[in-house]
This record gives sequence, structure tokens and C-alpha cells, in this order.
Amino acid sequence: MKRIGILTSGGDAPGMNAAIRSAVRCAIHSGLEVKGIMRGYEGLIHNEIIDMNARSVSNILSRGGTILKTARSEEFMTEGGRKKAFETVKKNSLDGLIVIGGNGSFRGAHELWKEFKVPSIGVPGTIDNDVFGSDYTIGAYTAVNTALDAIDKIRDTVTSMERIYVIEVMGREEPFIAIRVGLAGGAEDVLFPYTEYNIDDMCDDITAGRKKGKISWIIIVSEGVANAYDVAEIIKEKTQFSVRPVVLGHIQRGGSPEAFDRILASRLGHDAVQALLNGYRDAMVGIIRDESKITPYEKATTRDKRKVLLDEKLYKLTRILAI
Ligand code: ATP
Repeated sequence: MKRIGILTSGGDAPGMNAAIRSAVRCAIHSGLEVKGIMRGYEGLIHNEIIDMNARSVSNILSRGGTILKTARSEEFMTEGGRKKAFETVKKNSLDGLIVIGGNGSFRGAHELWKEFKVPSIGVPGTIDNDVFGSDYTIGAYTAVNTALDAIDKIRDTVTSMERIYVIEVMGREEPFIAIRVGLAGGAEDVLFPYTEYNIDDMCDDITAGRKKGKISWIIIVSEGVANAYDVAEIIKEKTQFSVRPVVLGHIQRGGSPEAFDRILASRLGHDAVQALLNGYRDAMVGIIRDESKITPYEKATTRDKRKVLLDEKLYKLTRILAI
């Protein structure tokens, strides 16, 4: 292996730059040449390749987003698109790829291996933490902290006025952010996918709580399950309370990565280079119980039961603490 390419794909996540920096410098340390591929699979299809050296990743460790840019590529979903991507790999003599992204990106990398035998190693970088094979993905905890910071600020108003706030956080199919900010932010309830929830019961709780003297509520809604405006409307109608919906949106994806994500990204960037050098071809690196692990792409895109059980436990605790 002489030359590798690095790309970031899917949604950006804080800490992707730290992963790029680590992979570039670890590769150089191991005697490899490194190319950067701009705009994820779009850049791979359209031959958008840049030279990278140790200096091209200076001063990016603390920056959110990704210097390589990222994209969602419709064309890469087609075999024709992947064929073009393969041509770019050949043209630039890339012996392997490091793909920093979420499970969609890993599905794409797996197809590229199956069809054209392009070796790649995935680095889990997504705020959703929805990848099997790593306890945490790069950016997820920074996103939790960003959302929490906003919720703490909203709480100042909540505690000053008689009000219910319904706060929508990111997580299309994953409740990771919703459940963590629910617990850490002292929310009264969390609506998230994969659980049965009954909004009538929630409204009964609110009415009963009010009779006991409770004046304010914070309810977290995961974007995958409902939108804050609809939920707020229903609660307002059923409880006659003043209800305010808040959608935190894309602020959750930005910002400087916290130490946890910088360290995770630095470790995974290193592990990805080592995995390529050790002959892995179609797999993802991750950290499980603080140890480096390699998981085939096919398994990485399945749902992790350990994470589901932990989510359930944390949610139950949130409800106990909300009395
Ligand atoms: P995030 O979790 O932040 O959304 P992701 O990697 O899961 O990240 P996706 O948009 O799902 O984001 O996937 C990124 C890109 O990977 C897609 O735009 C597409 O180009 C490619 N991709 C996803 N699924 C497949 C697939 N089944 N076959 C080929 N390519 C795919």
C-alpha cells in the first residue's frame, strides 16, 4: 500500500476534522502518500482530488465541519456512479480509501468493495451514534452538549414563567441526542422512536402535576418521531397550558468538538490507517468498551441491541427523576 485517499460523507459532524488530521498524519508517519477527496462520493465521482501533507491539516483540530466538505450523492447510489468513482480511484492510483461518515456512507463503501474491489476502512463520524461496532461515533457527544447548552438557557425562561416548552432535537431514526439531553437537561419527558408513547397520558400527567403545584415542563422530541409544532399544538389543546415549540435544528451539528470527540477522532483516524496497512478491506474501525475494534461494513449497518437497552434505561431514569 503506497497511496490512500480520505473523504468525508453524509452529514457533517464535529470532530471530522480531527479524524482527517489524525488519518493524514498517521498515514504519513507510516510512509504513505495521502490524497484528499472533496465533497464525499460526489468528489470521488468527479475526480476532485487534492494533495495532502502534514501541514494541510494544521489548525483544524478544534474546528467543526470538515475541510474536505461533505455531500449526499444520488449518483453514487447507482452502479454507473460507482463505476465513475472507481475510475477516479484508478486514475489517482489510490490503493485504499478512508471513509469518514455514517452507516449510509459505509453501505456505499461496501458496494464499492463488492463491485470494484476498492479497499476501504470506515471511520464512524455522525451525530446520530447509530453505527454498530462503536460505542460512540465522532460528533455525537458534542451535539448533545450543544443541544444541552440551548436547553439550559431555555430553562431559565421555563422556571420564570408558567410554561411548557416542547424542544425538538436532531436524530432521524436514533434517539441518542434526545435521550441524553432529556436526562442531562432534567426534562420531564422525551418522545423518541422505537417506544410507544401516549400523548394523552402525558397530558394527564401535566394536568395532575399542575394540580400539585408544578408550573413548568420541558419535553424533548426527537425529530424522527414528531415535530415540535404538532406536539405543542396537541398539548395546548388538551391542557389549556401555554406551550412553546422550539426547534434546535442545525446548530446541533456545528461548533468546536469537545475533548471526548477529538480524542475519539484521533484514535479512530490512527486505527483506520493501521487497519488498511494490516490488510482489512471492507470494514469499519470503532471503540467498544475503550478498546479498538474492527467490524465488517455489513454488520456495522445493523442496529445495536446494547445501545437500545442503554437508551431504555436512561429514559426510565429520566422519568423517575422528573417527579
Ligand atoms: P449521517 O448519519 O450523518 O446521515 P450517512 O453516512 O448515514 O451520515 P447518508 O446520506 O445516509 O449519510 O449516506 C451518505 C452517502 O452514502 C449517500 O449520499 C450515498 O451517496 C451513499 N450511500 C448511502 N447508502 C448507499 C447505498 N445503499 N448504496 C450506495 N451508496 C450509498
